Amino acid sequence: MTTVSAKQAATSLFEGPYYLSIAGKLVDATASFDVMNPATGQVLAKAPSGSPQQLDDAVAAAKSAFKTWSALSYDEREHYLVAYADALQAHRDELAVLLTLEQGKPLKTMAEPEVDQAISWIRQIAARRIPVEVLEDNDSHTVELHHTPLGVVGAITPWNFPVLLALWKVAPALLTGNTMVIKPSPFTPLTTLRFGQIAQSVLPAGVLSVVSGGNELGPQMTAHPDIAKISFTGSTETGKHVIRSAAGTVKRLTLEMGGNDAAIVLPDADWKSVIPQLFWGAIGNSGQWCVGIKRLYVHRSHHEAFVSAFVEYAGQQKLGDGLDPEVTVGPVQNKMQFDKVREFLDDIKANGQRIVLGGEVDENRAGYFIPVTVVDNPPEDSKIVQEEQFGPIVPIIVYDDVDDVIERANDSPYGLGGSVWGRDTRAAVAVANRLETGMVWVNEMHTQGVDIPFGGHKQSGVGTEGGHEGRLLFTNPKTILIKK
Ligand code: NAD
Repeated sequence: MTTVSAKQAATSLFEGPYYLSIAGKLVDATASFDVMNPATGQVLAKAPSGSPQQLDDAVAAAKSAFKTWSALSYDEREHYLVAYADALQAHRDELAVLLTLEQGKPLKTMAEPEVDQAISWIRQIAARRIPVEVLEDNDSHTVELHHTPLGVVGAITPWNFPVLLALWKVAPALLTGNTMVIKPSPFTPLTTLRFGQIAQSVLPAGVLSVVSGGNELGPQMTAHPDIAKISFTGSTETGKHVIRSAAGTVKRLTLEMGGNDAAIVLPDADWKSVIPQLFWGAIGNSGQWCVGIKRLYVHRSHHEAFVSAFVEYAGQQKLGDGLDPEVTVGPVQNKMQFDKVREFLDDIKANGQRIVLGGEVDENRAGYFIPVTVVDNPPEDSKIVQEEQFGPIVPIIVYDDVDDVIERANDSPYGLGGSVWGRDTRAAVAVANRLETGMVWVNEMHTQGVDIPFGGHKQSGVGTEGGHEGRLLFTNPKTILIKK
């Protein structure tokens, strides 16, 4: 395994060139776009801007490859996926540094674990199967339920976890016999282009292609007649465009979208011991995660002590370039998001809400740095409570009554995740049962696994990723009825 030092990382190693992967080949594009390093605000590299024709070529190659790929056995596809995981493992260090460079997240605590989890995910999913089910078998007939692959899957991914969220889609799609074209976020295309490149040395041509470019490639994919399914992760707003556009060809859809997750710290919680988990649940990845704690509800009986302990812990963190091993909180990923998060800060200040940590952006600092900011008890109807901040700001909100806080937590168009914290586990689970979300963690945070469905309710999602349920969504149910 090659070890890449931070110093090397800053040099030409990651400047490129980067290529599209189409039909098993590395392909240049006639145009390119700048990819920024969010820690410096400087251009990191140029990424190829795929043309509409190149996207069509990738889809055509995927359609052609589907014929042979879908005819392989599960065991044969497992073999390919394990070989892909091995090839990625050989480039693990390089991918992690590149992820930090383009995304901003701290190398040791965020980027390396993201790459490791993604590789492990492929290995584990490779071993899963969707067997044929015999629904009826009697003297007169047999009924079998098969799960057949859909065809070409289009993956559209965001910039917060570009490696993990893309490979979460690749592994189950390919395992179940589909082929795939990935369009990464224009903010973070580089790691995806690299793992697309690595795939070409291991997988048959056309099975996995990567086409980077502008947002306009998204609608081309969602309307494409030869794409059978769109697996999308991104904002709810964009997800609505995907739904509209996909209607024309009745595509299958899995949509993983925005959230405004509540954490409820119950009156009996051992709250002191869970402050680190709550902090990282909110501020990890600089608050840029769909299932991040975006509203932290604390019972009035321990409000003041909680806020001061939370602020003390938060104050120990170091903001900076993710390549610096001492840094625990990186920059916000891009200028657009930086500006959005600043709007939250402006709104908090304009409305006289109480900032107990952070709140001031250093105007002279290069890069997109927002300090960890804690807002003490903003009103329930404030922007920071009602909307998805997707940045390192956490509101700590006081409640008096458990029924009331459940109602407040549920009073949202989103329904992605949430967490409940309390000593009496049964009581905490009872609260979890009442939250209208796809996932609720009780006394733990962000545990995930290949057999655990991950998805949102309400406007946070359609379908699920992960779990047998998620894998089924890459297939069509097909019933075969046989007269004896
Ligand atoms: P985004 O919606 O702006 O972009 C997501 C992807 O959609 C990008 O690849 C983009 O190029 C593409 N796109 C843009 N316009 C499109 C269109 N009209 N048609 C098709 N594709 C189009 O989201 P983002 O800013 O990259 O990511 C942040 C959002 O993603 C947050 O809301 C976050 O909560 C959400 N998210 C959800 C999950 C989840 O699993 N539920 C995970 C991560 C992020």
